[in-house]
Amino acid sequence: ASFKLSDNQLLKLGSYSHGQWHEGNDCFDVMNPANHQVIAQVANCHLALVEQTVLNAKTAGKDWQQMPANERASFIKRWQSLMLEHIDDLATILTAEQGKPLAEAKGEIAYSASYLEWFAEEGKRIYGDTIPAGSNDKRIIVIKQPVGVVAAITPWNFPSAMIARKAAAALAAGCTFIVKPSELTPLSALAMAELADRAGIPKGVFNVLVGTDAKAIGKVLTEHNDIAKFSFTGSTGVGKLLAQQSALTVKRISMELGGNAPFIVFDDADIDAAVEGAITSKYRNAGQTCVCTNRIFIDNKIKERFLDKFSERVSQLVIGSGFDKEVSVGPLINQQAVTKIESLIQQSVEQGAQLRLGGQCSELGSNFFLPTIMTNVRNDMPIAQQEIFAPVSAVIGFDSEDEVIALANQTEYGLAAYFYSRDIGRVWRVSECLEFGMIGINEGIISNAAAPFGGIKQSGYGREGSKYGLDDYLHIKYLCLGGL
Ligand code: ADP
Repeated sequence: ASFKLSDNQLLKLGSYSHGQWHEGNDCFDVMNPANHQVIAQVANCHLALVEQTVLNAKTAGKDWQQMPANERASFIKRWQSLMLEHIDDLATILTAEQGKPLAEAKGEIAYSASYLEWFAEEGKRIYGDTIPAGSNDKRIIVIKQPVGVVAAITPWNFPSAMIARKAAAALAAGCTFIVKPSELTPLSALAMAELADRAGIPKGVFNVLVGTDAKAIGKVLTEHNDIAKFSFTGSTGVGKLLAQQSALTVKRISMELGGNAPFIVFDDADIDAAVEGAITSKYRNAGQTCVCTNRIFIDNKIKERFLDKFSERVSQLVIGSGFDKEVSVGPLINQQAVTKIESLIQQSVEQGAQLRLGGQCSELGSNFFLPTIMTNVRNDMPIAQQEIFAPVSAVIGFDSEDEVIALANQTEYGLAAYFYSRDIGRVWRVSECLEFGMIGINEGIISNAAAPFGGIKQSGYGREGSKYGLDDYLHIKYLCLGGL
């Protein structure tokens, strides 16, 4: 490998199923997006292993679900401590395969660990209900039980956190868990499995299946009769397909799909704060997060003032390898991502948008796309209607509150939205009118294990994190006690 770990056992090269590692000769390459070097060759898992993993997870679920919640919690907490203990190595693996700056990678590992801690605690508070019955000889009781085997498919932009926040909730609820991480970033998932193993989490409870045939593995994970729930984070197109497949067996599903976040700056906003919020919400992870700002709406009265400050800040961003300490923007994940953003920019320029900054790759290499600002954008241009997933800001002017709310909502997506205002009446009005699952108000970073993460419209359904996060992994069972 082209990077150094203090614990080399964290670099695993094959799937983890039922407490065992499955390496082999049929391998695929894992690349460092910063320099296109192969950092590891990982064994493809065969479909027979997927089948076997499901059956074993079902068997393992019997004991895991019987275990008292506080005992399950102690396993999950041990896993959390191990992740924090190995945060430097985990962040190194993450940056090597995903590209984000090392400081952001460490942030992601800490964020992953925070979900383990949160759900270890929440798992102890799976309360039932007693409900007054209509007659004296009956009692109505509600208990909650784990749904069973949970399967998940996760993306490459948060190779650790997207797994942690599903697995933590599933395990705490008493479910067993199988994840297929993105084939672009399998190493972070496998390192988590190594630590789950060291934490003593019983075999079959947490499993990671890696392979390039996402379609075939996904088919088993969405259609298998012994899987009770399917949870997906990724693009809306793939999510729709997987939701359809899951419908064949009427599985419970959670979908965390794409976004098209508006970032609105009203004329009464603290402009400096708005500039900082826009920088973090747009350029974090090189713009490759589902809650990244996609469209920046600025009141025309303050547009030039905002743009001057914003352009100055964007031009200070340092692009380069995530391992370089000064770097704030890493590479895009691959050539496809670069081609996509180039085409979005070109189409929008043809329709009248202007480039104020950037707009092309840097000299550092073909995956390094320069931090970019586009102005004169209209809401119907491709750059405003599609998920950008690159360090490119699309700036749109507006004149009134009603106008900007209508524009912001004119998208099929409904994940995150942000706005800056100091008028309390406007804060309340706009918050209620924006059709999005999460709203940052005078705040550019909203993710938190204690808060419900999730979208509306075609951004999906289900909530991850918070006191609501366990609901997706639990059945409600009604007991009618009669003859009293
Ligand atoms: P992204 O744009 O984040 O790569 P994708 O939706 O393409 O979003 O990928 C998210 C996850 O979905 C990855 O783990 C990928 O391997 C998986 N995936 C992609 N296509 C399919 C498919 N047809 N069936 C099952 N999984 C898929």
